[in-house]
Amino acid sequence: MNILVTGGAGYIGSHTCIELLDAGFNPIVFDNLSNSSTIALDRVEEITGKKITFIRGDVRDSEALDQVFSQHDIYAVIHFAGLKAVGESVEKPIMYYDNNVSGSITLFASMERNNITRIIFSSSATVYGDPASVPITENFPTSTTNPYGGSKLIIEDVLKNIYVAHQDWNIALLRYFNPVGAHESGLIGEDPSDIPNNLMPYISGVAVGKLDKLSIFGDDYPTADGTGVRDYIHVVDLAKGHVKALQAFENKAVDNLYTVNLGTGKGYSVLEMVEAFKKASGKDIAYQITSRRAGDIACCYADPSYAKELIDWEATKGIQAMCDDTWRWQSNNPLGYK
Ligand code: NAD
Ligand code: UDP
Repeated sequence: MNILVTGGAGYIGSHTCIELLDAGFNPIVFDNLSNSSTIALDRVEEITGKKITFIRGDVRDSEALDQVFSQHDIYAVIHFAGLKAVGESVEKPIMYYDNNVSGSITLFASMERNNITRIIFSSSATVYGDPASVPITENFPTSTTNPYGGSKLIIEDVLKNIYVAHQDWNIALLRYFNPVGAHESGLIGEDPSDIPNNLMPYISGVAVGKLDKLSIFGDDYPTADGTGVRDYIHVVDLAKGHVKALQAFENKAVDNLYTVNLGTGKGYSVLEMVEAFKKASGKDIAYQITSRRAGDIACCYADPSYAKELIDWEATKGIQAMCDDTWRWQSNNPLGYK
């Protein structure tokens, strides 16, 4: 079965292609390469020994999408394509809404024209804003503090409205917590084009000697050691969640529109992550404590039990595998795919 994977050359998309191929699906990647490289797809082919169809295109281009849907028999779409840097979204809100929201609407319209009715959407735990408590369940109230989060919430709403009009569509809204790690081969991983915004690529950049020292954004949060706590999830576990979500479309006990958290249910602080990475890499991680980053929250972790119940998915990889695999990727590819 052909699966159209928008943004499939990116970090989560490339890992998902491996899991799709292993599960017998045939990914067709549609990506404009604005934040990725086809080398990732060559590596996916090397890991799996299978071929991937790649189409360079933009999800805002309805003609290109119509052409893909008419030329290939597509069973479902997994929609990763989008911009994801929170800080940049504050500076360039129009670019973010155009790419993420207009791109998604163009994609959904093309799906409707071509009778493609199954979609899995990459949402984010950012839609919970600053949660009143943890762990977070799917029925917590949603809110956003930046255009990136705003774009995710709008797209979720658009899909919910599409479902009202088309109850035969199958729609999965997957809210990811903090994806980290890399494929255990060390051949593919996260490859930020600029100075990383996220914690894990920053730590691994310091460990490999590309970056000087980590700034820890605040040690005065109401957490055990004062640093921010997040639910880090191994990208391979996350990728497998997409296969489970696809398979759940065939399960008549699952509603045609569903929302699930993809997290581990465990929170780790910034200092705990630094310690775990030191152990994995054998390197010292220089750091300094600086002031809080605007918009950051103290603590965020999932209640992942609904994903287990609904789509039979749970994370299996722990913090040490996340750090070991990141380090294998980073140390074997200090310059990423360049
Ligand atoms: P990524 O940047 O590595 O992958 C996104 C891919 O989409 C890239 O290959 C990029 O070239 C492509 N793309 C961007 N705009 C496009 C467009 N208009 N048309 C076609 N392709 C386009 O990011 P990722 O970490 O793999 O994230 C994938 C999805 O998951 C994104 O939607 C992101 O918002 C969401 N998400 C990511 C995280 C995270 O921390 N990585 C957390 C929650 C949700
Ligand atoms: N963080 C940090 N230094 C960095 C990047 C992140 O101290 O250079 C902290 C951040 O304040 C948060 C945690 O690490 O507590 C995870 O941040 P990330 O940006 O990776 O994810 P998000 O904030 O989106 O959950």
